[in-house]
Amino acid sequence: MEREVDGNLQENDSFEKTLRPASLDEYIGQKELKSNLKIFIEAARQREETLDHALFYGPPGLGKTTLAYILSNEMKGNLKTTSGPSIEKGGDLAAILTTLEPGDVLFIDEIHRLSKQVEEILYSAMEDFCIDIMVGKESGNAHSLRLALPPFTLVGATTRAGDLSAPLRDRFGIVSQLQYYDIEELKCIIQRTARVMNTNIDAQAASEIALRSRGTPRVANRLFRRVRDFAQVLNNGIIDLKVTQNALDCLHVDSLGLDLVDHKYLMGIIERFKGGPVGLEAIAASIGEEATTLEDVYEPYLLQIGFINRTPRGRIVTQKAYDHLKILHQVDLFE
Ligand code: ADP
Repeated sequence: MEREVDGNLQENDSFEKTLRPASLDEYIGQKELKSNLKIFIEAARQREETLDHALFYGPPGLGKTTLAYILSNEMKGNLKTTSGPSIEKGGDLAAILTTLEPGDVLFIDEIHRLSKQVEEILYSAMEDFCIDIMVGKESGNAHSLRLALPPFTLVGATTRAGDLSAPLRDRFGIVSQLQYYDIEELKCIIQRTARVMNTNIDAQAASEIALRSRGTPRVANRLFRRVRDFAQVLNNGIIDLKVTQNALDCLHVDSLGLDLVDHKYLMGIIERFKGGPVGLEAIAASIGEEATTLEDVYEPYLLQIGFINRTPRGRIVTQKAYDHLKILHQVDLFE
């Protein structure tokens, strides 16, 4: 099921390309990362070298791909994009690497999903700008050939930094975790999106969308587009607080950005397991979802806002979540 509040890229998110900030100055938030990147870019420019390889990790929709675009712009190189799962064999990677020009940025999304064989080819490409390829297998005269590559910058992105092998991780000079955005930053992103889309939005309405966007620019932009539809049909195109609240209520996105799926997850633990602790597999089975989906998609935001705790004995729903759901704590209900 597609969720309005899911940070993962969805089919009708293609409008996003028009919203991508093109420079670091236009990129809102992530202050520390941005100021460090500015220094690294300036230093590389002064030395007339390529930028160090960079790894960005964090939940989907926080701006990792956007940063790769920005780095290629700032370094005046081309950007080539691919993803871990689409590079099946060493030959696939070699084909991409050999088309690079000096100063290009190669972006590999979901880099934790590269196969071991492909990863090993990447090591020498990153470290020495060369690869060894096997030739002459057919003629029975197999030998390896060293191929020089132009200097380039690899930008890797992953939602699961823990799944990255140590040797790969160590080859990145810049390793940075993207943080969830605060309300003010999201508000700026929404106001910028409105400007790019030639729409007006009042400050209260922008704050309301920001509150419900789960700290995630992709969600903020998606909700903005939905709210704009409601305003166009019901309010002469004026995006004010009332039409925004109405639209988001109709979409079942609550005051903290939780949707029906989050409610199902929390209520599942509360009703069937007395609020926990309960193991991930048991929750998954009880609400008919894959455990990995719970871990990657449902839980990060609930953990972030302190609605669940992960303990060695399993997940526990916190008092804060009970308060938000306006239900009595299990102790009152069952004892
Ligand atoms: P990720 O690669 O982390 O999944 P993206 O880089 O694709 O996320 O970002 C999703 C969308 O959110 C982009 O299209 C961009 O318009 C917007 N966005 C992300 N980060 C920012 C930011 N810091 N400032 C403005 N817009 C942003």
